[in-house]
Amino acid sequence: MVAYACPVCRTNRTRFEVICKIAREIHKDPDTGENTYIAPELETISRSGKPEIDVKCLNCGYTGNESLFAKAALR
Ligand SMILES: [Zn+2]
Repeated sequence: MVAYACPVCRTNRTRFEVICKIAREIHKDPDTGENTYIAPELETISRSGKPEIDVKCLNCGYTGNESLFAKAALR
């Protein structure tokens, strides 16, 4: 596992929320706005194979990409 630290308030290293983005493909009728297709599967959005995760600091409320929190923990 990766340690996190908040890059903004810097005091929080323990309390976070992780936010996973979920995508679902839909097709729309451009005139009526009606959905003509909805994919049966929800997909986790991933960048280079890893799911893209945002982290929220429960101390100051800052939300940013997981890598920012992981980097802040190394300092
Ligand atoms: Zn914070």
